[in-house]
Amino acid sequence: MRRYGHGGRLETVICNGCGKKLVVEEGIVREGLLSIDHAWDFFSEKDGEIHHLDLCEACYDRLANELAIPVEVEEQTELL
Ligand SMILES: [Zn+2]
Repeated sequence: MRRYGHGGRLETVICNGCGKKLVVEEGIVREGLLSIDHAWDFFSEKDGEIHHLDLCEACYDRLANELAIPVEVEEQTELL
């Protein structure tokens, strides 16, 4: 979950999985974060809804470990 301040600057990110408040400095998240912004379409039962969620790295790891098929991981050739 994200909160933006005046001027649209990111102020707060709270993990939807555990409620932890992530470190945000000057509008930038300073720790591992997975953000999902998904617009469900006609073929879903949530047509017309846009879902937003944020997960800290620990919650992502927990979720990834529950998957039947492991997450595909590749090395970035160029660090952003
Ligand atoms: Zn979490």
